[in-house]
Amino acid sequence: MKLTRINKVLGLVLIAVFLVVVGFSVSAAGAAEEERIVLATGGTGGVYYPLGGAMASLWSGEIEGVSASSESTGASVENVNLVNFLESQFGLVQNDIAYYAFNAVEMFSDQEPMESMRGVFTMYPETIQIIARAGAGVQSVEDIAGKRVAVGAPGSGTEVNARQILHAHGITYDDIRQDFLSFAEAADALRDGHVDVAFVTAGLPTSSVIDLATTTNVDVVAIGPAMVDSIIEEWPYYAEVTIPGGTYSGQDSDVRAVAVMAMMIVHETLDEDLVYNITRVTLENTDVLARTHDRGREVTAESALAGMSIDLHPGARRYYDEVGLLD
Ligand code: GLU
Repeated sequence: MKLTRINKVLGLVLIAVFLVVVGFSVSAAGAAEEERIVLATGGTGGVYYPLGGAMASLWSGEIEGVSASSESTGASVENVNLVNFLESQFGLVQNDIAYYAFNAVEMFSDQEPMESMRGVFTMYPETIQIIARAGAGVQSVEDIAGKRVAVGAPGSGTEVNARQILHAHGITYDDIRQDFLSFAEAADALRDGHVDVAFVTAGLPTSSVIDLATTTNVDVVAIGPAMVDSIIEEWPYYAEVTIPGGTYSGQDSDVRAVAVMAMMIVHETLDEDLVYNITRVTLENTDVLARTHDRGREVTAESALAGMSIDLHPGARRYYDEVGLLD
């Protein structure tokens, strides 16, 4: 009698243990099916960061089994490394930096080519903006010699662009005092008088420059027409653009500048279906990007191959093929 009761209790305990174990393995299996992906973006004062956040939410919401998150980084140079060495699956980068890293040229010439990256889509022009504190005596790029300069965050594409543009004008880091600052840090340093000029390579308008220009008088410095031509001749990923008057408070006239393209990269080993879905879902929901930032309006399937500087991932290629964008 007593034994039967014990048996019954034991039986119930066993059933309970069984249910817990089964429940646990089912949820573990569910979690294992979920693909976790990380998208490397840029600093919080830029455009990659908000657009990357919007894309990660879109992917998690629209692609079954995908849980995506975005992370803040130093931007392009850090991101090509993160993706090439599979520390992040996806990354937002400048098309010039992707090309230099993939082919081990320019600042990557002493490294192994980063051949594990693939292209997914290009997005919008990123303008190299040269912002000087009014009164710092910087009316032209030549005037930057001898100044304190925020050249971009460590690991940024901005820093590469700053070096190239200064170099084209005969200025090296020996001629300036360079500070490696994110856009937000550069804006603060410029406002507080710790730096005279800041380089910002990002989509227009860039939030950190909007904030800066509303509290501090700044000049947006133009590049001369002949210099624009020789910069493009030396580094063909640059294109001539205009920073339209009124982009920033106090900037009334158009300013001549150069720009590169923002693009999405992925590690070559990522599953073809996954990259296909990411390409499709992003390019078919561009309204989400347009609501996040003005430049998000320029992301379209039709323009997604313009300025593509490295080989496409097969998943992305499949999408473009399907919608008739590849000949
Ligand atoms: N293109 C910039 C860089 O790689 C980052 C732009 C952004 O954060 O929007 O330095």
